[in-house]
Amino acid sequence: MKTLIRNALLVTMNRQNDVIENGSIVIDGNKLVYVGPTQWMPPGPFDKTIEGDRRIAMPGMVNAHCHSPANLVRGMLPSKPLEIWRAYYRASLRDMRDEDFYASALLGGMEMLKNGATTVLDHFFGNQACRFMGAGAAIQAMRDLGLRHVISLTLSDKNYEETIPLGETASHVTEEIQRMSASEAKATKAWLDDCEEFIDTFHDPNRLTTCCPGPSAVQRCSDELLREAADIAHKRKLPMHIHLAETKAQAVMGKRLYGTSLLQHLASLGVLGPSLSLAHSVWIEPADIELFAKSGATPVHNPASNLRIGSGLAPVRDFLSAGVHVALGSDGAASNDGQNMFDALRLVALIHNQAGTDFNYWVKPSQALAMVTRNGARAFGLDAGELAPGKMADLLLLRRDTAAFTPMNDVMSQLAFCENGSSVDTVIVNGEIVVEDGRLKKLDEMEVLRLANKARERLNPAIEREIATAKTMEPALAEMYFQIFRGA
Ligand SMILES: [Zn+2]
Repeated sequence: MKTLIRNALLVTMNRQNDVIENGSIVIDGNKLVYVGPTQWMPPGPFDKTIEGDRRIAMPGMVNAHCHSPANLVRGMLPSKPLEIWRAYYRASLRDMRDEDFYASALLGGMEMLKNGATTVLDHFFGNQACRFMGAGAAIQAMRDLGLRHVISLTLSDKNYEETIPLGETASHVTEEIQRMSASEAKATKAWLDDCEEFIDTFHDPNRLTTCCPGPSAVQRCSDELLREAADIAHKRKLPMHIHLAETKAQAVMGKRLYGTSLLQHLASLGVLGPSLSLAHSVWIEPADIELFAKSGATPVHNPASNLRIGSGLAPVRDFLSAGVHVALGSDGAASNDGQNMFDALRLVALIHNQAGTDFNYWVKPSQALAMVTRNGARAFGLDAGELAPGKMADLLLLRRDTAAFTPMNDVMSQLAFCENGSSVDTVIVNGEIVVEDGRLKKLDEMEVLRLANKARERLNPAIEREIATAKTMEPALAEMYFQIFRGA
């Protein structure tokens, strides 16, 4: 199958950030075979021609960090620091089953696709009562939508209460957290065996699925688990994903456990490299930025989530000046609450411009766009994220007869500052059209909403009950939070 997209405005996101007026794209199967001026395009015949004269073409966006089970509680959780927020979020997962994970992944995936994301990394943590915590259901949802996905199975072999800096006063909270983590406890080897079996079962790039290990966070894993997980990824040439230093409490705990920063500890285990991506990377040290630059590892910035639960801001300007490849994520809908990557793109282009800092290093629209396209693809070893011959055919077409692009002054600036996803017209993943005229092509959108509502309704009694329990933990967790910021 050969498709021609003729006479569009191409935002290639190649290394030179070339923009081509009157450009054309030829797709052969799942690959781009021509990207360039219309006048030089290869002769047909083509099986399908898309007229692009009122369209902008750009690479599909990569959402480099999210948690698909969270979509059913969007807009529901309080804006409170992560350690408190987490107790509420975990409460919402406790009764979820495969059909709920399916519905939740479908809902978030639909929102991503319709707003121009063609790949998502799902750092999957669900419910131990389900096989692979329910990750298979999320994979099915993304295959049904036609959304490329990297499913990074969460691994954690430490008891949660040992991984946060709780003070002496919190004994009843410790008990409650113990009850929570008892249901999740598994030996290191069991986690690793599960991870390998998961990869054997589902990894299939031809069906859009990449599977990989996803240690929860440095402080939540034994050194053995971190090393072995990296070994699995290395042997199978897969990426690996992990949370890093999202909150100050985590960085404090890292110092307590290792005497170094969390990233320095990872480096000492030999697991830092270009195929490792690290969500958040907020509370890091200047030496850590050098480590990122030297190793080629990718920090994944989640601006909306970091603002929503007040985690802090990743040093994005410092990353950029050190030549670090930053990627962008939405994070889960429990802390964001949307899954629209134009939202993340606009935020990253705005929030790092702060008074008194050197404006020469403020984030440029081209840098923000690189984060959400080629940097994300690079982090997961995907040959995508640019419009260039040989790359995978993951791209989107936006209408240019919309307010966001009228008048057309500077297309890259307008993508970053003006667009909100509503101009997205066509989305192509792996050479297949999955959104057309702004609507899902493979699934009925009303059915996606119906499934999500049905799952949320079924879960309600359990959510109410578990949230009431989580509330009892709040005072001690709040005390821990204030102690940490007092430096105690
Ligand atoms: Zn996360």
